Amino acid sequence: MNKVGQGAGWTGFELRRARMVARLRQMGITREEVLEAMVTVPRHLFVEEALRSRAYDDMSLPLGLGQTISQPYTVAVMTQLLFAKRPINVNQRILEIGTGCGYQTAILQALKIKEIYSIERIRSLHERAKQNLRAVRLQSQARLVCGDGYLGLPQQAPFDGIMLTAAPKEVPLPLLQQLAIGGRMVLPLDEGGIQFLWVIDKTAKGFQETCVQKALFVPLVNDN
Ligand code: SAH
Repeated sequence: MNKVGQGAGWTGFELRRARMVARLRQMGITREEVLEAMVTVPRHLFVEEALRSRAYDDMSLPLGLGQTISQPYTVAVMTQLLFAKRPINVNQRILEIGTGCGYQTAILQALKIKEIYSIERIRSLHERAKQNLRAVRLQSQARLVCGDGYLGLPQQAPFDGIMLTAAPKEVPLPLLQQLAIGGRMVLPLDEGGIQFLWVIDKTAKGFQETCVQKALFVPLVNDN
């Protein structure tokens, strides 16, 4: 049984979390709902016990199996970009590719998004994310899928937002097809070893692509 959440340890983590969010504000995160979600989710419960003291530092941390939990700033930027210029609407349907430990998924849950889907290809991480999300007991529920995120979830499409937390070398075509008109995709793209974060908006007339900043993610495995 997990003892974190009781006694003095909890206060310590809450304080660190509040400091993390203050730092995110200073770094330019302005969307209040996103900052609030990051105050709500106990990030330390998503990392290995030995790394918990580092959970609120602005760094990515290893999850094992060569994968990482993204640094808090990256999670905040991507979430803010996904909903930029739009209300964070409970009726939205969002797809995340690369569940990892489930931290980004938990942030979407804390935003009370109505339908959240998240795909992870490594079964042990998929199972761990399920446990982590159960442990943090957020109201809104995500549907976690173990499979190849490159292919998306055609049966559940179209999605108002699609977020990739692993970097492909080109935008996966199935994901572009599964984006709703008026929907937005946020993804890192690996361009010859250098990664950039991109936003792609799908309009009735076609796609509009914007490069945002440099990025550093694990590769999106493409077996297709
Ligand atoms: N969103 C996570 C970040 C996890 S790192 C967080 O909040 O911490 C990226 C994850 O993408 C890894 O777990 C990796 O296994 C997964 N991944 C890579 N290629 C994938 C693919 N084709 N389909 C689904 N998941 C993939």
